[in-house]
Amino acid sequence: MFENKTSSFKEVADAMKKISKKEIDAELKKLDTLCFCPRCPTHMGTGEKTHTFCVRGKSRIIRNEKGCLCPACPVQANLHLTWVYYCTRGSGMEQSGMK
Ligand code: SF4
Ligand code: SF4
Repeated sequence: MFENKTSSFKEVADAMKKISKKEIDAELKKLDTLCFCPRCPTHMGTGEKTHTFCVRGKSRIIRNEKGCLCPACPVQANLHLTWVYYCTRGSGMEQSGMK
């Protein structure tokens, strides 16, 4: 939804604020299929069932940082994200200071 229409994370954040919860849920479903978190060393073995923390925000389970695959994930590029460890440090909105 955002990848071809935005050129910065600020534009993504602004676009997200304008769409409905239903549209965000639909977008998240797509991003979930691309997310690298389930195969990340920080995620594996924790019992965490959630991922796409760059949008959802911190994990309630993951505490120890053991490497982060976000820089190689297509979602990072699609949403113009530049941060890492969204599971422990917060979503793109949080780490950017926009939330
Ligand atoms: S950038 Fe990180 S948190 Fe976001 S979808 Fe990719 S692997 Fe998951
Ligand atoms: S946000 Fe980064 S560190 Fe956390 S589970 Fe996803 S890829 Fe791993």
